Amino acid sequence: AASSSDDFQTLLSWADKHRKLKVRANAETPEDAARARELGAEGIGLCRTEHMFFEAERIEKIRGMILSESNEERQQYLDQLLEFQRADILELFKVMDGLPVTIRLLDPPLHEFLPHGEEDMQELAKAIGKPVETVREITENLSEVNPMLGFRGCRLSIVHPEITEMQVKAIMGAAVEAVKQGFKPKPEIMIPLVINVREIRMITEIIDRGVQQVLREAGVSVPYRVGTMMETPRATLGADRLAKAVEFMSFGTNDLTQMTYGFSRDDAGKFIPSYLDKKLIDVDPFVSLDQRAVGRLMEIAVNESRAAKKGIKYGICGEHGGDPRSIRFCHKLGLDYVSCSPFRVPIARIAAAQAHVEGSLDD
Ligand code: PEP
Ligand code: MG
Repeated sequence: AASSSDDFQTLLSWADKHRKLKVRANAETPEDAARARELGAEGIGLCRTEHMFFEAERIEKIRGMILSESNEERQQYLDQLLEFQRADILELFKVMDGLPVTIRLLDPPLHEFLPHGEEDMQELAKAIGKPVETVREITENLSEVNPMLGFRGCRLSIVHPEITEMQVKAIMGAAVEAVKQGFKPKPEIMIPLVINVREIRMITEIIDRGVQQVLREAGVSVPYRVGTMMETPRATLGADRLAKAVEFMSFGTNDLTQMTYGFSRDDAGKFIPSYLDKKLIDVDPFVSLDQRAVGRLMEIAVNESRAAKKGIKYGICGEHGGDPRSIRFCHKLGLDYVSCSPFRVPIARIAAAQAHVEGSLDD
């Protein structure tokens, strides 16, 4: 007898025949990537590289890098981080053989990596071999009042291009190794928290130079793409100009919602329930995207960048990428893919099919 799991598989395969939107997953570990692929993911739409450093031994290295007092010191940490990163990304390419893997350049909200409290401060000082006073002083200097609007995303690449140089070596080094092992890696390098085309040009130059160097030295060719996150209102309103410098755009609707509403994504839980209760808003905008505001910005960005250049691929990788209502909107907008948590992939496949079928009934 057919089990309900068989029925579900039948439903999913039916859904796959009736959808236009591709479904990718947000993943940074090989385990998550493998689970996502089993659940039908057609690539990775967002690998948050800062999450690859959360393990004990690694977090010390990235914290040491952030607290470096000289370029030489930072470079030593970067050399060690390069090894971890290359090995991890190689695994992602293998798991996602033949499918696109979008790797986002480092986007660490600094406060997540700075020491919290005296004990942490002491431990970190010991781990990185610096006096506690020095660690305290650097931490104070790096502390921000508004870290989520601060020294994040591509701003880091602008101030410290050597971090991007390291990441490009890791990504393309992994791609070369994957090719040598008989796999077909499809790397896509994504720039976070962009506001204008000048940032993209400056960082793309670093990326292209790094890629060419790795490929030349290896004597291997690997196709790659460079694209941008769309997560500031300014980026969406200048999409026609950004278009000239990118091959894909991925809407980071977590930050885009935060910046459109002026609601902190980390603290909104304190007042959103009251807003919902009092019917001041219909849905939590961090769960289901507000089509009149965030959606409008996406629409402007897609339409104006499309008019400026053909062939750009569009995706979404904020939490909304796994929300059926938001997926319907993304389908109407003509995005190419949604990217969501691995466990949401099946729901996204069904929502994408439903959106397509509903759309054709409208015609
Ligand atoms: C986003 O902002 O929507 C996004 C995907 O990036 P992150 O959640 O890592 O800030
Ligand atoms: Mg973001």
